[in-house]
Amino acid sequence: MSGKPNPYEVAQQQFDLAADVLGLDQAVRDLLRSPMREYHFSIPVRMDDGTVRIFRGFRIQHNDARGPCKGGVRFQTQDTVDAFRAQAMWTTWKCAVLDLPLGGSMGGFLCDPHDLSRGEQERLCRGWVRQIAKNLGPLIDVPYPDTMSSDQHMLWMLDEYEVIFGGKYPGFITGKPVGIGGSRGRIESTGYGAIIALREALKELGITIKGSSASIQGFGNVARHAVKLFQRMGGHVTCVSSWHQGDQTSYAFRKKTGIIFDELAAITNTYGEIDKEKAQDFGYEILPGDQWIEQDVDILIPAAAGNQVSQSSVERISSRVKVLVEAASGPTTPRAEERLFEKGLLVIPDLLANAGGVICSYYEQVQSNDNYYWSKEDILGQLDSTMTAAYFDLRDFAKANGLKMRDAALIMAVDRVAQACGARGWV
Ligand code: NAD
Repeated sequence: MSGKPNPYEVAQQQFDLAADVLGLDQAVRDLLRSPMREYHFSIPVRMDDGTVRIFRGFRIQHNDARGPCKGGVRFQTQDTVDAFRAQAMWTTWKCAVLDLPLGGSMGGFLCDPHDLSRGEQERLCRGWVRQIAKNLGPLIDVPYPDTMSSDQHMLWMLDEYEVIFGGKYPGFITGKPVGIGGSRGRIESTGYGAIIALREALKELGITIKGSSASIQGFGNVARHAVKLFQRMGGHVTCVSSWHQGDQTSYAFRKKTGIIFDELAAITNTYGEIDKEKAQDFGYEILPGDQWIEQDVDILIPAAAGNQVSQSSVERISSRVKVLVEAASGPTTPRAEERLFEKGLLVIPDLLANAGGVICSYYEQVQSNDNYYWSKEDILGQLDSTMTAAYFDLRDFAKANGLKMRDAALIMAVDRVAQACGARGWV
């Protein structure tokens, strides 16, 4: 046992607080506190050695009162189905904070793709779709890639769905490769979105992004694009980190003069694991464990996994840090959040900070349903306007009601979803 809080219990506690503030009726609480639908299934997969292995698959649809569900498909190694439930609920709130006409879902597999060959991964993805196809689709629930899943996984899933239904349904899934139904800008969207929100927060704090410094947990899709845009805006990233499968631990990679994106990207595998030996050759200090959090920087960006900023690690945060941007999903435990507040840090909550991916996933869904694709410039421009507008929407709501941004985001989102359920006559 990791001793870390159960994310579903955390999500439910957060919901209860919002429900109390809003004074929701018992029926509304009962409806929104748990997912509307859960699918748990077995996926038999023929392995390369001829044996058959049974994998567990899941799809959790939390709420679709505001529109079709949208949610990630991830390979999950360390948690239980409760992590999927929490993510589905958070995605409902995220879509509502962004005012997107969508509900929230989540799903995937409890297994590690590192242990599977390419062929086994393809058969697993196709098997997942065969088990759940009737309950997914452009008008029901649209998956997108999340931890350890890629555009290739999405394409295999799309292909299987199209075989089953005998047509072309590019709007079934998002995060597809560009040129085969994918959207330009999608790959950059989550990391860029986090930095756009950070840019607006720094302006309000009177900190210029140029010359400011950041330490980032992770070097996967989200972290890499956050690094790229932050550096392009003139910021310095002095530390990133990655999980090392062989050692079953993480390492931070520090270069006090600022990491060089291209050299680190060139020695990072598809799972976001940086090669330690090569990094050392490039002059990086290799720091074991979660030392990314104790760096002397202005900004911390957890962009790796949930529950990484904990009650104990929060005490190691330097007094210089002014902002923590939750680019990962659920990176801060509730106790740690209280300490961050006491220490005077501004937390840009994940519901907003990592919403860029959902926004671009929605753009991809719209483009795929029309079979008409927009330019990258248009997409990134629209991402910037949507994230900026959402930041101020939330900031204004938080200020007007004397709330922390996370509480404001939750209350605003729960209220919007509860109103949709009421307007439909469900409760
Ligand atoms: P990824 O698999 O591409 O990368 C994860 C990175 O984090 C890798 O570099 C990995 O080595 C590192 N990592 C994992 N555990 C770690 C640990 N304990 N310490 C240090 N490093 C660790 O995943 P991603 O797509 O970049 O997603 C990262 C986070 O952002 C996840 O929480 C995910 O749910 C969230 N998120 C992703 C998207 C998206 O569009 N990809 C959207 C919203 C939220």
